[in-house]
Amino acid sequence: MKVLIDNGHGENTPGKRSPDGRLREWAYTREIADMVIFGLRKKGVNAERIVKEDTDAPLSERCRRANDIYKETGKKAILVSIHCNAASSGTNWMNAKGWSVFVSNNASSNSKRLAECLGQIAECIPVPIRKPMPNQLYWQQNLAICRDTNCPAVLTENFFQDNKEDVEYLLSQEGKQTVAQIHIDGIVKYLSL
Ligand SMILES: [Zn+2]
Repeated sequence: MKVLIDNGHGENTPGKRSPDGRLREWAYTREIADMVIFGLRKKGVNAERIVKEDTDAPLSERCRRANDIYKETGKKAILVSIHCNAASSGTNWMNAKGWSVFVSNNASSNSKRLAECLGQIAECIPVPIRKPMPNQLYWQQNLAICRDTNCPAVLTENFFQDNKEDVEYLLSQEGKQTVAQIHIDGIVKYLSL
């Protein structure tokens, strides 16, 4: 099984940063993606980033890369797209906070299982989780990276880049390690089921 890690946006993407400019989503998600891949490889899991460049790759291109690998591997791949949430455009600090995981509206049962595995690990650590309903760990939305990829696919929104407390946490060593751990342990849990 190959684990494909998608890291959101690129250095040329406007916005997508904390109001104080300390966190830039494209750079942060690439750093986390590398930690996740390092952690997965240490556990013997085959993992790679699908956007190796620093610039943004269009969603259609990201999906094409993932679908090519899914085909090459004989349908033995899963995808996790790593993002940071935002309640507004990034000019002002907002109140919304917490961690969440998404699948597309057309999600397969395996996509939902993968989302549940990540959510269960997050709940266990624990970190504050945003849920659509008390007994459902994942949200369903019309997300191209999950909708247009053929493999099981989820997207994580790792806290809010426009919430002051969340940004402090995200930038801390503890925060980075926890965000990476949710992905590593959640993916390993899915693969072992
Ligand atoms: Zn994003």
